[in-house]
Amino acid sequence: MPDDVPAVAPPLLDSIEADLLAVDRTLRRLDEGSYGRCVVCDASLPAQVLAEAPLTERCDRHTPDANGPPPAGQTASASDGVESISPASTSWS
Ligand SMILES: [Zn+2]
Repeated sequence: MPDDVPAVAPPLLDSIEADLLAVDRTLRRLDEGSYGRCVVCDASLPAQVLAEAPLTERCDRHTPDANGPPPAGQTASASDGVESISPASTSWS
């Protein structure tokens, strides 16, 4: 029986990849000196928010809640260095 289906569900991989991208963006923003500011309106983020969630990149007003897509102000330009993991790559036999 072919029951070698990977135990990790794709949605989990998606969220991990999103986390990695967020870390990458955060490191870049640290480099640029824009860390701690909302990427949409440039408002300073509260230190307490950053302490609890260091990857925060939007202020309260621009944080996408459970509903609606994130604002499309920032186009993803993370194409240098970060190789995206190829989907369904668990076939090392
Ligand atoms: Zn904002």
